[in-house]
Amino acid sequence: MKIAMVLRNDDFTREVEQQIKEKLRASRHTYQIIDHPGEQPDLVLSIGGDGTLLEAVHQYGLDATYVGIHTGHLGFYADWRPEELNDFVQALDEGNPQIVEYPTVQCDIHMSDGSMHSKWALNELVIRNASLSTLVVCVFINGDEFETFRGDGLIVSSPSGSTAYNKAVNGAIVHPSIEAIQLSEIASINNQTYRTINSSLVLPSHHEIEFIVMNPEIMIGLDREQAVWKQVRAITCRVGSNKVKFARYKKLPFWGRVRNSFIAD
Ligand code: NAD
Repeated sequence: MKIAMVLRNDDFTREVEQQIKEKLRASRHTYQIIDHPGEQPDLVLSIGGDGTLLEAVHQYGLDATYVGIHTGHLGFYADWRPEELNDFVQALDEGNPQIVEYPTVQCDIHMSDGSMHSKWALNELVIRNASLSTLVVCVFINGDEFETFRGDGLIVSSPSGSTAYNKAVNGAIVHPSIEAIQLSEIASINNQTYRTINSSLVLPSHHEIEFIVMNPEIMIGLDREQAVWKQVRAITCRVGSNKVKFARYKKLPFWGRVRNSFIAD
């Protein structure tokens, strides 16, 4: 089995990486650790936090299968703790993990000159104005005008991303088996003059959101990546046709993760 590793840059994570490598070498199975970006691994091992996993999926893309070891606080995408490395390698040896697939957000960024850039995110797309002034965006759903948003920003999250930035703006938590995207507002202006729905919207996989952008420069965030874009005319978003695959070697129900992350000690 060819394994690629993506690490958070800290001493403890590097220590865990060394321990894992030793245990894989000592195993009765043959594991090959690959570190050439061009080579396709059978499994990508993310060691770090949720951000490390997000980095890994953008590095190795939608054809790979992922598993995470968290070296900080409990992660949403990582199943294994550093003290469980023996169990982890034993589970790898036994093989036959359940493959769980998480939907992505697909978006096309249409520029004023007619060109188009296709992007995807595992957590979310974020649109904000490039400066501190108001973001102004006309929102269309399935080609019909819905509202004109004025405020700090908009988030289009995937189900697995619904517990991240989306949750911080009071969006709903959506189970990752539901193929949907969620549109949430960041600080919308709602008064006698301007009005938005001011609730999060959950859209099914056959629906499309279109944002017509009024600002000359906006900030676009896709998971960890963020950049200022000039002359964006419109952005369309839908549920991605590809999902991110996770190898699950033990049962960790989604609602248990939610409870452990946000409620339990
Ligand atoms: P980071 O280091 O700023 O950490 C953000 C936090 O979000 C971490 O605690 C991380 O564990 C958590 N997180 C990431 N994905 C999650 C998920 N799917 N469910 C629950 N929690 C999750 O940034 P990072 O680690 O590089 O993660 C990038 C993510 O940070 C973005 O995709 C965005 O969702 C999130 N973010 C959140 C806020 C906010 O809550 N106000 C603001 C900006 C970015």
